[in-house]
Amino acid sequence: MGLFIRVEINQEKIAPGMGDELVNLCPVDIFALEGDQLTVVEDNEDECTLCELCLKCASAGAITIHKLYKNETLVS
Ligand code: SF4
Repeated sequence: MGLFIRVEINQEKIAPGMGDELVNLCPVDIFALEGDQLTVVEDNEDECTLCELCLKCASAGAITIHKLYKNETLVS
């Protein structure tokens, strides 16, 4: 788990095919697929640039980014 950032996935809101898209678009490899399931690569969480590409791509509520250093969240 990251010290500064935690990325949370709501599996129920990940549409088919969305996992692949998220894996490909994140510039710092925060997402990975384990089988069909989208997962977070915890070792990379603190590399998140807060570019919000994943938030714009994912369906509402599917991805939440927690800024642990200021108690703030961003939600797709
Ligand atoms: S905000 Fe950008 S860097 Fe952070 S997880 Fe989403 S796509 Fe990756």
